[in-house]
Amino acid sequence: MKEEKTKQIKKRIKEEIKNTISSIKEYKLLTKPITPENAIGRVSRMDAINNKSVIEAALRKAEEKLKQLEFIKTQVDNDDFGICIKCYKEIPIARILIVPHSRYCVNCA
Ligand SMILES: [Zn+2]
Repeated sequence: MKEEKTKQIKKRIKEEIKNTISSIKEYKLLTKPITPENAIGRVSRMDAINNKSVIEAALRKAEEKLKQLEFIKTQVDNDDFGICIKCYKEIPIARILIVPHSRYCVNCA
């Protein structure tokens, strides 16, 4: 049973890493500097700049998540994997599969 779970979690982490990497690539493309020639009126330029900071924030978040996922990937085989690092209760597998990079249970997150 435990092995089956571990396999499922590993698969999920792998998927999530793949998705996160492709998001990062996308965000990086979108945060390329805004050149004057593809601008647009003053208002849409402001829009573009606003969007840029939103995307940059998303990019930083995705990079952080990727780091956490890479770390978690190395932890899955440990006996204490799946234990909340705050309250030491077991994290339900359903939660692990939704947010595999989290090391907290729902209550402590
Ligand atoms: Zn907890």
